[in-house]
Amino acid sequence: MASSPHPNLELRPLGNTGLKLSCVGFGASPLGSVFGPVSEHDAISSVREAFHLGINFFDTSPYYGGTLSEKMLGKGLKALGVPRNEYIVSTKCGRYLEGFDFSAERVTKSIDESLARLQLDYVDILQCHDIEFGSLDQIVNETIPALQKLKEAGKIRFIGITGLPLSVFTYVLDRVPPGTVDVILSYCHYSINDSTLADLLPYLKSKGVGVISASPLAMGLLTENGPPEWHPASAELKLRSKQMLPAKMFHPALSQQELCSSLLSIVSIRPSMYSTRTHHPDFGMLTVLLRSSVAPIFVDGVEDCCFQYGSNQSLWYIQALILLLGILTRQSEQDMYGLSLCEIYLICLCMLIFPQSKCQAAAAFCKEKGKNISKLAMQYSLANKDISSVLVGMNSVRQVKENVYAATELATFGKDQETLSEVEAILSPVKNQTWPSGIQES
Ligand code: NAD
Repeated sequence: MASSPHPNLELRPLGNTGLKLSCVGFGASPLGSVFGPVSEHDAISSVREAFHLGINFFDTSPYYGGTLSEKMLGKGLKALGVPRNEYIVSTKCGRYLEGFDFSAERVTKSIDESLARLQLDYVDILQCHDIEFGSLDQIVNETIPALQKLKEAGKIRFIGITGLPLSVFTYVLDRVPPGTVDVILSYCHYSINDSTLADLLPYLKSKGVGVISASPLAMGLLTENGPPEWHPASAELKLRSKQMLPAKMFHPALSQQELCSSLLSIVSIRPSMYSTRTHHPDFGMLTVLLRSSVAPIFVDGVEDCCFQYGSNQSLWYIQALILLLGILTRQSEQDMYGLSLCEIYLICLCMLIFPQSKCQAAAAFCKEKGKNISKLAMQYSLANKDISSVLVGMNSVRQVKENVYAATELATFGKDQETLSEVEAILSPVKNQTWPSGIQES
């Protein structure tokens, strides 16, 4: 028998919808094994724990894990065995593993597929997913009108739009009749390293639009474990400190093959990480490279190549050159502390190319102080009450407990201002740094 939700987690109104969302929302993208494999047992237990601790808002998309997240969330919600009106579900349309399609025909079909996977008769919110990858005029003139018909048919209750660049929200909201778009979901723009959403909040409030702020942990940047490989941020923001170069990787005793694999592990800019041409995060990586390289002429050549041939090829070009340099230095016999001069030069070059990530430096600082960067980040986002729900991705009972605890602790004791100021100082060089997203920005 299911028990009633925990009463202590704050509920906040969502714009003019009349919905009240728990201030901590359950982001279900990890249930699609997006951040690493998640068992069905863990997925269902996480949903159950979340609901019992007072989380009433669950967000997913057909895109996450190629429909796996919707299926897992559906199973988790069904297993709760509580009346449908006790939880709020949002899913999305227009973005799929196969690509983007915001046509009226596709989104109309999409909701039926989502409802089947979620085992629901309706969703509370249907959001156009990452609209910067479509034509914004199509969103205004075709997609949103199609969603209005779904509203009339009772398949959805409210309409939302999501995206990374904040400009897409004003573009659409300025062009649709008031009350047409009920909700916006912004991500990675209200966390310790990037708080640019704050500037848009008065405008959204004036329009009566509800605000969901997703990715308070910056999609893993503000966690002790660091982000997944596919994370689109620049190297300056995301690389783990373990990717710094230990000198022993170049010891002359290494075979050529070992040297090659060492170099490859350091040069972690694999094209697979940057497979979507439109994302172009490798330009961020190149910027770091350009700014920090001790060989600007060499890198200028790479940049030219990048513009000429497209980004992925250039990354291979960089890898190939660094590898070649590494292999060539094996010929040199001028030893110094067991390393040749060329090898030392190469180490310096690589260390400058891959500086320690500011986010990992902040996480390490917190750990040393006996604090947790993720809790600090959750509390930073939760403290702004103009945000209806802080949507955090969770895949374990432990994470659910920690994130709910972050909220209840904040409500009782307030923010840890001292640690927050120290972490903000560490992150200040990358404050509000984002990455390009969408066809307009590629
Ligand atoms: P996030 O910032 O919430 O970070 C999620 C990562 O942090 C996962 O690896 C998770 O396992 C880990 N984590 C969670 N709690 C933790 C804790 N207490 N300690 C350590 N690690 C912890 O990023 P996200 O999952 O991408 O964003 C949250 C949700 O927002 C998504 O699941 C999705 O529902 C939604 N979202 C939507 C869009 C969009 O519509 N365009 C974009 C991003 C996110």
